Amino acid sequence: MNELVNSIRERYLGALDKIASAAKRSGRSPEAVKLVVVTKAQPVQTARAAIEAGVRILGENYAEEGVTKIQSLSNFSAVEWHMIGHVQSRKAQSVAANFNFMHSLDSLKLARRLDRFCADAGRVLPVLLEFNVGGEESKGGWEASDEARWAMLPGEVAEIFSLANLRVCGLMAMPPLGGDANASRPYFQKLRRLRDYLALQIPQAGLNELSMGTSSDYEVAVEEGATYVRVGAAIVGARHYTTENA
Ligand SMILES: *Cc1c(COP(=O)(O)O)cnc(C)c1O
Repeated sequence: MNELVNSIRERYLGALDKIASAAKRSGRSPEAVKLVVVTKAQPVQTARAAIEAGVRILGENYAEEGVTKIQSLSNFSAVEWHMIGHVQSRKAQSVAANFNFMHSLDSLKLARRLDRFCADAGRVLPVLLEFNVGGEESKGGWEASDEARWAMLPGEVAEIFSLANLRVCGLMAMPPLGGDANASRPYFQKLRRLRDYLALQIPQAGLNELSMGTSSDYEVAVEEGATYVRVGAAIVGARHYTTENA
């Protein structure tokens, strides 16, 4: 077990170093970037080892799997659990009740449901809005690959911003996979431009956070303004898929 903690700690500290260097290269402060360690499709003991290695923000993609880990590791109270995957309507209640932060809010309908369940639970959930900047049909989020159509977006964003129990903090994207890290750069730049555009249209919404970059391209994401990077395999190793969470 100690060996697992040590190897995760080494890779976690290494990633923090790379984030700090990338931030400095682009004239940013290393503290401006938060590292979410993605433990989806990993056993509970890997999430526990990550916490023991010093990780403070864990990311999960699947509501049920995440809630199981949150409940079995609830004695580690200083840890934040972030939902980073698509949430089905029927899982909204459990996400609203258990997660500290959501990166992947992808529809007005889900926003209204989450808002209602957060009100019931007496909490406010900080959220990021997910945008599909690569135009892939398989990807979630508001379609935003065509800049000529961005004018359609501020209406829904403003409506979500008006929901009392959600706090919209910024934007998230998952660019097309494959290619080298630099292939992601134009998509990261596009998400940042979209943030700047929406911030002009809805100045009252503080859209400060940009969640972008995974194991393969997080340094480039930091160079392009990421405030959250979501890194799984490069820190906790290859995923252990089962039929339940594949
Ligand atoms: C799985 C996943 C990650 C982490 O991917 P790695 O390649 O393991 O770093 C980040 N973000 C989202 C939305 C994911 O689904």
